[in-house]
Amino acid sequence: MIDLNKIDHDFIWHPCSQMKDYEENPSILIDKAKGVWLYKKNGEKILDAISSWWVTCFGHGNEYIKNKIKNQIDKLEHVLYANYTHEPSIILAKHLSTLFDNKLSKVFYTDNGSSSVEVALKMSYHYWYNMGKSKKKVFVYLKGAYHGETLGALSVGSIDTYKKIYNPLLPETIEVKGPDCYRCPFQLNREKCNAECFNEVKDLFEKRHENIASIIVEPIVQGAAGMCIYSPQYLKKLRKICDNYDIHLICDEIATGFAKTGKMMATHHADIVPDFVTVSKAVTGGFLPLAAVLTSKKIYDAFYGKYEDMKAFMHSHTYSGNPLACAAGCAVFDMFNKEDIVKNNIEKGKYIRDNVLSLMEHPNIGEIRTIGIITAIEIVKDKKSKEKYDWKKRIGYKIYRNAEKKGVMLRNLGDILYFLPPFIINNKEIDFMTDVAKYSILEILKDV
Ligand SMILES: *Cc1c(COP(=O)(O)O)cnc(C)c1O
Repeated sequence: MIDLNKIDHDFIWHPCSQMKDYEENPSILIDKAKGVWLYKKNGEKILDAISSWWVTCFGHGNEYIKNKIKNQIDKLEHVLYANYTHEPSIILAKHLSTLFDNKLSKVFYTDNGSSSVEVALKMSYHYWYNMGKSKKKVFVYLKGAYHGETLGALSVGSIDTYKKIYNPLLPETIEVKGPDCYRCPFQLNREKCNAECFNEVKDLFEKRHENIASIIVEPIVQGAAGMCIYSPQYLKKLRKICDNYDIHLICDEIATGFAKTGKMMATHHADIVPDFVTVSKAVTGGFLPLAAVLTSKKIYDAFYGKYEDMKAFMHSHTYSGNPLACAAGCAVFDMFNKEDIVKNNIEKGKYIRDNVLSLMEHPNIGEIRTIGIITAIEIVKDKKSKEKYDWKKRIGYKIYRNAEKKGVMLRNLGDILYFLPPFIINNKEIDFMTDVAKYSILEILKDV
């Protein structure tokens, strides 16, 4: 019999990994999956507590999505998307345009999250260029931001692990101190504050607005930073100041979109309309890669004109608007239209939170924060000062690996563990997930 693990080890370079770690922990070979469960060949199963990087929101192997893709594959698998079009992409664009009440009714498809961030940044700069304001070319981002790993997306990211080494390659951008609610410098509470931390952006925009094209944010939850939740007041203020200074607001909803945060889109918490919104991840229920940039007719019109005017947005990705991926996207919207998934997710989120809240008694659990179906547990060295453990200790990673042995895939973000399970998870599965998580956390913390 062929040894797949050996071939994997010999030939494959996995993402976001120090490959030497695989000597001790070889990649886990998943044979099939259903609902919240990943199955190995030998029948052992692992609960997918983070929807495989926040995508498989309707569960693995969802029959409805699967059938929609099957029907599509019999008709049309792909066609180039310049000058050509097809039904699934048209219907999906209609659905996507409803997300912001038809105010962001222009849909530009790409095939992964990072590339949609690149598109939003390029469109923003290009818009100002077409408007005769080519000095507006600097992008601003928040501390803690994550927007993907291609060079443009990385230039507006703030996490050293992914970015630091590449700094010399990146275009000029500005990092601004954003909300940091667990360690709030004003000692305020994110539920009641008035985004007092907003002054940093205000000062920057006052000084530099003539050069700033846009600011990009992850609305309400900074995902990769550790599911850091902040006040909608911040976004409200941002919308206002962006209008005052002619600066675009880009909301990157790649992680937060589609009912994960207690609203269909996280931006809805602030009741504002950005200039650009990027979506990906859950949009296909994790079946196929797809992303899109949503923008307004106002932006679109600035690119509209005779070919010779050279105003067009000449950007493309080969798999833009792939029909199979769009069919999956249409199926996802059908499911949102059938059920109140937002409400169900809020209830599940509460249930998860109640299950783990007793951990707060532990001296090394700093915060347990919940929004929608997301709950994050932040581990600290010192509860009072909120000091973190030395990252080299890899506490979060050890907990993730420990829980995996007990049947739950709980991938860490630094020393933060979190739950973002498929929406179809039931209470019994939640109990198993949280029991294993609690036990695994306590077990590792005992030996620190
Ligand atoms: C995952 C993610 C991206 C990047 O998407 P990829 O498909 O991995 O390129 C960008 N922004 C946010 C907020 C994300 O969570």
